[in-house]
Amino acid sequence: MNDHKTSPKLAGKGHGKWRRSRVYRCSTCEREQPFCWTCPCGFMICSDCMEENFWGMTCNGVVWTCPDCGEIRGFGND
Ligand SMILES: [Zn+2]
Ligand SMILES: [Zn+2]
Repeated sequence: MNDHKTSPKLAGKGHGKWRRSRVYRCSTCEREQPFCWTCPCGFMICSDCMEENFWGMTCNGVVWTCPDCGEIRGFGND
């Protein structure tokens, strides 16, 4: 009388939804990145490229300027 039931733990829900809604692709190096700073115009830049172009992108390290549309963007999380 060993009746094995399939454990519902294994069958049912896995680890839920992995948030995959957003993939960043750096506009500068064109690689997919876990994070990029983004502009509403669609421009995005990864931290590597940002570092490389840092003083071309920002004049104070607090905000950066989108090279595509000129929008001023903050470095905060947004
Ligand atoms: Zn990049
Ligand atoms: Zn822009």
